[in-house]
Parts: sequence; structure tokens; C-alpha cells
Amino acid sequence: MKVLKFGGTSVASADVIKQVRDILNHTDTDRVAVVVSALGGITDHLLDTMDIASRQDAAYRKSLKGIENRHLEVVRELMPMKSQSGVLSKVKSELNVLETLLDGVFYIGEITPRLSDRIVSFGELLSAFIISEYFKSSGLNAVFKDSRELLLTDQSHGKAAVDFKESNKRIREYFEQEKAAVVVLPGFIASSEDGNVTTLGRGGSDFTASILAAAVEAEELQIWTDVSGMYTANPRIVKQAKPIAHISYEEAMELSHFGAKVLYPPTVQPVLAKGLPILIKNTFDPAATGTLITKKSPEEGRTVRGISYIPGISLLSLEGPGMIGIPGISKRLFEVLSAASISVVLITQASSEHSICIGIADEDASKAIREIDKAFSYERSQGKIKPVIHEKDLAIIALVGDQMKNHQGLSGRMFSTLGKNNVNIRAIAQGASERNISAVIRKEDVKKALNTLHETFFEENIKQLNLFVLGTGNVGAKLLEQLRKQKKYLKDHLRLNVRVLGISNSRKMYFDEQGIPLQQWPDLLQTGAKADPKEFFKTIQHINARNSILVDNTASEKVAERYPQYLRESISVVTCNKIACSSAFSNYKQLKGLASKYRAPFLFETNVGAGLPIIDTLKNLIASGDEVREIKAVLSGSLNFVFDHFNEDTTFHDVVKQAQEEGYTEPDPKIDLSGIDVMRKILILARESGFQLELSKIENRSFLPEEALKTKDNDSFFAALKKHEPGFQKLVKAAKAKKCKLKFVASLKDGKASVGLEHIPAGHDFYSLAGSDNIVLFYTKRYPKQPLIIKGAGAGADVTASGIFADIIRVGTY
Ligand code: ADP
Ligand code: ASP
Ligand code: MG
Repeated sequence: MKVLKFGGTSVASADVIKQVRDILNHTDTDRVAVVVSALGGITDHLLDTMDIASRQDAAYRKSLKGIENRHLEVVRELMPMKSQSGVLSKVKSELNVLETLLDGVFYIGEITPRLSDRIVSFGELLSAFIISEYFKSSGLNAVFKDSRELLLTDQSHGKAAVDFKESNKRIREYFEQEKAAVVVLPGFIASSEDGNVTTLGRGGSDFTASILAAAVEAEELQIWTDVSGMYTANPRIVKQAKPIAHISYEEAMELSHFGAKVLYPPTVQPVLAKGLPILIKNTFDPAATGTLITKKSPEEGRTVRGISYIPGISLLSLEGPGMIGIPGISKRLFEVLSAASISVVLITQASSEHSICIGIADEDASKAIREIDKAFSYERSQGKIKPVIHEKDLAIIALVGDQMKNHQGLSGRMFSTLGKNNVNIRAIAQGASERNISAVIRKEDVKKALNTLHETFFEENIKQLNLFVLGTGNVGAKLLEQLRKQKKYLKDHLRLNVRVLGISNSRKMYFDEQGIPLQQWPDLLQTGAKADPKEFFKTIQHINARNSILVDNTASEKVAERYPQYLRESISVVTCNKIACSSAFSNYKQLKGLASKYRAPFLFETNVGAGLPIIDTLKNLIASGDEVREIKAVLSGSLNFVFDHFNEDTTFHDVVKQAQEEGYTEPDPKIDLSGIDVMRKILILARESGFQLELSKIENRSFLPEEALKTKDNDSFFAALKKHEPGFQKLVKAAKAKKCKLKFVASLKDGKASVGLEHIPAGHDFYSLAGSDNIVLFYTKRYPKQPLIIKGAGAGADVTASGIFADIIRVGTY
């Protein structure tokens, strides 16, 4: 004999019930006991209806009508005409009794636990009756058996305790004499000695099936539900979760206790005692393997078998100097809680015994606090124990696996994974069996925590990066294009799944938590909300995705000002915007500090030399113990372009104009021409080399006439260039006379920096620098005479975007 349990969604409509019938056809055993839940959603619907009635709101009648219609409709769709009327009249008469009970609740304006059990029991009674009649009409040798006659419990309504001795006896006797091949029974309901209906707790139909299977020592207990087994994490929250093929009783129990709703926690115990296998299967995909639960799961493979969570947790802490060394405090605390029927989900106690911290359900918190404060009122009045500290709206997440005890470093990995994602851990517990490591976190962090832990322990190979891209100009657009083109490569070769969840330019912003399809970003962005940096941040905070990265492709000060906000949320920052790193040293230092504290990389490779690996190389030199003695560099692609093209046959004005038009300058070319941009770059290199330098301390030997420097807009700037053309021609001639070229050079020596035009003779490393190229010479302790040279294109949207891209990958491999 096998026992098959079908949950609410598996019997939610006539169509699915027909599928259940089909599943029975394929069940190879002589007899089956079929335990069913109420039609999907009916238990909640009944509870709602009685709640409405108890508030003396006549709307309960309409609600009841809904329940009636659901059942009558299923009967009409399931049953052939000829057998319909008998079943309909029986169902209607049951519904009449239900109506009378609800009328009673309405008139009295009150609901007792006993009456509540009586009312909800109609859900399972009706579904089991209808299904058994359908089975009969479809040719099965089936009978209905009322579980209330078999399962005896105490009188704790809502979640009654089973009298196993008596129930087992009744079950065995019944099945010994029953000859039908299929017995259909309502799950969830039982009766107490005094003959009242009781229930086994929400989700209790699983338990009914397990008790039956254990009593008759069935070959197998099958739990048919709406997912293909017990998953590595709740599949509704973690999209990457996979069904676990084989798991031990203890692991299954632990996962269900810690919130894997697919199995009602008490279900495992009865079958475990008899060593019967449990198989969890999907009614909607019967071919899927499902999950087998037995005594031992295969040892090879994973140490962590699954991750689960319990929402709605409160933490209560009992603290005080009077607790140290005094025996019996915990005993009294737990006695108080037990007397108040409050179940404790998690306990931690520091070894100093200075505090005890317990996790309980949110709804039990106020009662628990009242009782604890009452019980320790004497100690409180003496100042030995402080009033209970309460934190609510928390959740427990747990890693579960039999083999965890044999592996070191799992909790370390768990906590560092959470830490990197700014998930604040309020309390930690590790069971003595070491089958479970639990942490208490904020409920807002559950989704992020489950997904990131799942990634760490089950998808070791693939890491998801979630980007929020600000700025869609030349660089931003190129970056999005590169990301789109390289998506597959990154996944296949670097095991990075890079998604863009948010995009904003100065007008609009658009978000998609599932990832923005990058072919369509320009159109989608058009449909977005009005751009707003504050809202942009708030939305990212709300999405709360793991491995989030802000990508700043703007040159905006307003954006740069917000980096600390992002880093404090452990959101990494990748930026080509130079403002933050070239602002006050204290600000630069703060950002670096936040990045390290919140373990969120802050990367700005493209601040110097666009895509050239200048900062990264410098960082590696310093990290490996090298020291920077001198830096000589041509760091402005724009200025190099200008002086490369400017000669006696051209005008300075026209060359600058050309540079601007070809995208080699900042939108405001004065930033480049004045030398400010180069000052910022050498400042950043100086700081990265370890010098505490400010922009104001850098010497700028500007070649621009005062008048051009003072202009306020591009037009007057260009006008001033035109006017001073003879001066610029003089610069060219002077260089030519010495057979030199003009280069705008940045230098750093002994911690002092300067920028200015220099005459570069033939043969010098800078002499043949063409176009918009950059070059940096690092003279260090290890490279004292022959410098380490980095040279290449130092401006342009494509190379800048690829530099940002490289930084994103650095975050991914951090
Ligand atoms: P039934 O009505 O069949 O008893 P339940 O709703 O009680 O079904 O349980 C199945 C649900 O449990 C799934 O739809 C899923 O949302 C949830 N669930 C939570 N954690 C897990 C997990 N680790 N594996 C599978 N399902 C889970
Ligand atoms: N119908 C009950 C509930 O919804 C029992 C069950 O489905 O297991 O809780
Ligand atoms: Mg269930």
C-alpha cells in the first residue's frame, strides 16, 4: 500500500483533479490511501469568512457564496450528469450546515478555537467527499473515509497533539477490514476525545498522510504538490534553486522547520520511526524526478543541502549584571515561555552569561515580553536585569546539511557572503548537531541573502553582477553595447552573469529587477520615470540586489556627492567621473575607507588614461611593496591631439575646435586646455602612490592667456583663442627652433606635482606620441633608471567604456 497526499493546488480545480486521477492510474501498488487538502485557497477563504462574520459584518454571506460556488462548480465539471445530483445535494446539505455555523458566529460576534476548527474542517471534508465520488464515477473501486474517525488528538484546537497509540490502532483496524482499492481521506482534520473536530495545524494534511503511512507501514509516502520536490531554496524567491534529488530525514526536517513550506515540519517524524521513504512529486509535472527522503542521503556532493528561512521573527534579549553566574535564569525564562505556549525558534547565549537572546514569532512577542517582565520583576526592581529588549520584523535564514559538521569554514563563508552584501546579522545560532547554521537578519534582506547564499553554496561557478548605469552619453552607450555583446562570453569564460537593472540619463530613469533587455534600452528608457538622483538611489536600495554596482558615466558633481551613500549600502562604485577622486583629500580618503569597511570596491581606472591599465598597475606595484619615486606623463589625450596637430600651417583655434568635434575634449574644452584635467589626473596618481596631496598644491604653468582662462562659455572661449593666435604661434616657433615638440607634461617628484608645456627633444619617450595617446613613465624603487611605461589611446568613448568594463569585471572577481 502507498499513501498519496495531494495538496491544495493539486486539487484546486476539476482539471487538476482529473490529473490526480491520471496519477493514480500510473501508481503501481495494490492499494492506495489518498489524502487530500481542501481545494486550493479554501482554508484561507473559510478563515476570512468567519473573521468577517465574527465582526458582525453581513458581508460574510457573500464570501460564503464564493466558497459554495467553487465547490458546486467543481462537482458540475467533474461528475457525469447521471451521478451529479446525488453528489450536489450532499454537498449542498454540508454547505447548509456550514452556513448555519457562520450565521451563529455572526449573531454571537465571536469565534472560539473550537468553532474555528469545526468551520475550517469543511474544506477538507468537502474536497475528500467530492474527489471520492468522482473516483467512483470514473470506475475506481474507491471509498471515502472520514479521518476524524481515525485520528484522535487532545483538545488544543488549531494545532492539536495526536494520540498516536489510539490513532495507530484505529487506522490499522480500519485498513485491515477495508477492501476498496482506493480510500480517499480528508487531511488536516481529526477529533478529540470529547468528539469535537480538531485540526493539526496549517499545512497539516502532510502530517495526516504521514501518520497513516506509518501506522499501516506503507511502502512509501508520496507528497504531491505544485513544485518538483524540495528545492535547494524556496523556488519562488531563488530563481536558480534546483530540486534536491535525495535528502535525509533530518535534513528535510530541518529545512521544513526553517520554513521550507513544501513539507509540514511534523510530517517526517512518524515515517522516520518506521524508515519509510517519502517522495515529493509535482502534480503538474509527474515525470519530474522529485525528491526522495530517506534515512541517509548520498554523502558525496554538497555539504550544504538547502537554504531556508522563517519570516516574522522577533528577537528578545534579556540582559543585566545580575545574570552573571546565577544559575537558573535560563530555566526560569524558558519555563515562563513554555507556560505561555510560546515556542522558541532560536536561542543564543554569550559565554559571559550576561545576556540571553531568543527568537520567537512576531505575533508572540508582546505576550512574551509581558510574561518575562512579570517573572523577573523582582530582579528588575533591583536593577539586576534590564527590561526585555525587543527587535521585530526580522527573519531567520538557515543553511542545512548533514555533512556540514565535517567541513570547516562554512559559517565563515556564510557570514562573509552576507557581509559583502551589507546584510546585517543580528544573531547567530549553530545547532549542536551542526546540521544547521542560522542567522537572524532584517526581513528586507531575505531575498538578497537567500540569493547570494545560494550563489555561494550552489552556483559556485556563476556570480551575478547587478549594474545600475548612470549616464547614457557617448561612453554610457558604448558600455551598454559592449555589455550586450559580451554577455555570453562573460558567462561562459568568467562565470559572471552581468545584468543591468537600472539606467538613467539626465532626463529619464528606468528599472527592471529581472534585467533590462539591452537591445531595447533606448526605447525602454524613454518609457521610464523622470530622472532623479535621490529616487535612483532609493530604488536601488529598495531592489536590494546582491553584488550591486553603480556605474557612473557622467561628469556630474551631484552624482559624485552620493558615492558614500552607495558604498554604505555595500554597493560598489565604478566611475569614469574624476570629481570624487580629485576633490579634497579627506573626501578621497573617506571613500576609500567606506569601500574597505563595506567591502564594496570603489574603482576609477578610467579617471586616468581612459582604458589604459594605469591605476591598476600602480596599485599592484604598491601592493607588492614597490615605491613611486617619480612620475612623468602625458595624460591629456585632448592636449596631445591639439599639440600634435597644431603647427605653423594651422590655427590653434581650429585644431581645438576639431578636437572638440571629434570627441577628444570634455564638453567644456577649457577644462582640458587650462590644464585642470591633467592636474586632476596627476593628483589621483599621486594619491594612489601614497601621497597626501591637494589640487591647490599642484603647480600649473598654463599656456593659455588670462583672457581665455576667464571666459564663462564655449563661444567666448573660442573667441579668445582666435584673438590670441599670435601668442600660440610663438609657442610653436620657439619649440621648432630647438627641434623640439610641444607636450603638456604632468610630473610628480618627491610628493610634489606640476603640469605645463614642455619642449620634448627627439629621442625622448614622449616625442613620437601621436594623436590622442597618453603615456606614463613610472620611476620606482624597482624601476629606477628604465621606467615602467604604459602607453596607448588615452581618450575616446570606446576605450573609456572598455576601461569601465574592466573595472566591472574586477568587482566581479573581487
Ligand atoms: P501544498 O498545498 O501542495 O501542500 P504548499 O504550498 O504547502 O503546497 O508547499 C509548496 C510550496 O512550498 C511551493 O509552492 C513553494 O512555494 C514553497 N517552498 C518553500 N520552500 C521550498 C523549498 N525549499 N522547496 C520547495 N518548495 C518550497
Ligand atoms: N488545508 C490546510 C491548510 O491550508 C491543510 C493543508 O493543506 O495541508 O493549511
Ligand atoms: Mg502544504
